[in-house]
Amino acid sequence: MSSADETLETIRTQVEEETPDDVEIASVTFEGPELVVYTPDARTVADRNGIVRDLAQRLQKRITVRPTPDALVPQREARETIRELIPEDAGVQNLDFDSETGEVFIEAEKPGLVIGRHGETLDEISAAVGWTAEVVRTPPMESSTVSNVRNFLKQERDERRDILERVGRQINRPVSDGEDWVRLTTLGCCREVGRASFLLQTPESRILIDCGDKPGAVDEVPYLQAPEALAAGPNSIDAVVLTHAHLDHSALIPILFKYGYDGPIYTTEPTRDLMGLLQLDYLDVAAKEGRTPPYESQQVRDALKHTIPVEFGNVTDIAPDVKLTMHNAGHILGSAVCHFHVGEGLYNVAFSGDIHYKDTRLLDGAVNDFPRVETLVLESTYGGRNDYQTDQEDSERVLKRVINEAHERDGKVLIPAFAVGRSQELMLVLEEAMSSGEIPEMPVYLDGMIREATAIHTAYPEYLRESLRERILYEDDNPFLAEQFQQVDGGDEMRQDIADEGPCIVLTTSGMVTGGPVMSWLRLLGSDPDNTMAFVGYQAEGTLGRQIQRGQDEITLSDRSGPRAERVSLKMNVETVDGFSGHADRQGLETFVETMHPRPERVLCVHGDESSTNQLSSALYQNFNMRTFNPKNLETFRLV
Ligand SMILES: [Zn+2]
Repeated sequence: MSSADETLETIRTQVEEETPDDVEIASVTFEGPELVVYTPDARTVADRNGIVRDLAQRLQKRITVRPTPDALVPQREARETIRELIPEDAGVQNLDFDSETGEVFIEAEKPGLVIGRHGETLDEISAAVGWTAEVVRTPPMESSTVSNVRNFLKQERDERRDILERVGRQINRPVSDGEDWVRLTTLGCCREVGRASFLLQTPESRILIDCGDKPGAVDEVPYLQAPEALAAGPNSIDAVVLTHAHLDHSALIPILFKYGYDGPIYTTEPTRDLMGLLQLDYLDVAAKEGRTPPYESQQVRDALKHTIPVEFGNVTDIAPDVKLTMHNAGHILGSAVCHFHVGEGLYNVAFSGDIHYKDTRLLDGAVNDFPRVETLVLESTYGGRNDYQTDQEDSERVLKRVINEAHERDGKVLIPAFAVGRSQELMLVLEEAMSSGEIPEMPVYLDGMIREATAIHTAYPEYLRESLRERILYEDDNPFLAEQFQQVDGGDEMRQDIADEGPCIVLTTSGMVTGGPVMSWLRLLGSDPDNTMAFVGYQAEGTLGRQIQRGQDEITLSDRSGPRAERVSLKMNVETVDGFSGHADRQGLETFVETMHPRPERVLCVHGDESSTNQLSSALYQNFNMRTFNPKNLETFRLV
């Protein structure tokens, strides 16, 4: 009997002791970080309040109770009963039975009606058919990413169950006694923006946090081959934790599976979906630029298959001596500040990922309240002395003026934007400005991945700011579905038609004008002085966006499908509207630390140019009298 089996046997005995005598325990098994208890008396457990809660508290584990197969009503019959119990207007799309686990997944347009008041309808369903009912929301906007990911995971259900069981055994392996220590190694994104990656180690466990690429520097990847990292073998790592989906944090996660890693990735559900979308696009862009990508789409699917979703605020065991809790970071959909609790009260470290401190239209601001934190690893993108941003309110005023001026000239406004985050924020600004009459009603065309990224947002309204969530869920007033938003799905022919029409706004990728449909738009709209190009996001050194912003009026558009290069003389207006960033500015970063509860003893300033990390580190030291660091890549800190 392996040690994991012995652990499970001990847990089973504990479960039997802690449950009432009339509840028979058929088996217990690990499913990732959860303990699953199978019983023919699942209904008794469900009916009697508190059994599961008490058990979870006693065992210090997350517990799921499932019925044994003999307690299940046959599927055909169960299907009819469930349909009868759920109100018609819940909009049930699909019922999906998993006979291995006794779960039935109910996909509905209005999950609230399936759940019922205080979960009454769900309980009724479970009582009538024996199956454990789980509700899944049909995205209000059709998203191919969300449905592809869901279908893929359904199809891989058996293998996923094996993965989860293996992960559960790893987490619950017995630990050896010995000296306690905690170390943190920087594998990237120090004194630079990009290739985020860190390794958190204890004598027992090793956790990799983020694994990203460096925009504009294909060859600079995280130091995964360092003796600290994968040199000890791909499966010396217990878990990968992903703060958010942006490629400078997630792009190289699939390469771990190419190297042979087969452990879990912990992240939020929306980050999982966005990660899949962006990684596949990463491969697409590499192919179009004639590069050999570092991995293939198979490894993107491997990453999805190994992802264990975590909800904000839920404490999750990810290794024998490490617990993870994710909190909203306010940066993009699903982005998280990741808090790690090591040992039984031994040490706490939080990784900010990328944060936005203030509330935006789309998301609540970053959480900085924790039970305990001794070390904070803090992003410093805008950590420089002068990195203060315009208030968003002022920025919105400028944007509306720019749009009104173009409209008066009968011109069009071209806005390059990142597909995830900034585009949705802008859509909310434009929708409100049109409905309040501050700018005239006109079509807003969405080009590139923007519509798909928006659809993913609406599939996870619980991650959006409350007022927006309410509008989407309960008021049938989804701003993203406003009629002025129109998808460009007819290629260059449709773009030509739009260019021939009257005033409009075009929101398109890529955000830094480094490729994508914005190139076609420059060709179509660039030479007309009535049109305006409005930059709303950071334009990095070396990008075409930066060159245009600086006033370059002759640009060369190369056509990747052939050798044809075209000179376009730019006569359109060029405007820069600051203040729509997804990052906290210098003030926001300082306030995040100042109001953080509890105040950390030590801060590592990372994810910023050398001057930004340096200046932020000095400022935090001087203002708050804490130990601050401006580490280089490949430094190791002993935390305990
Ligand atoms: Zn980011």
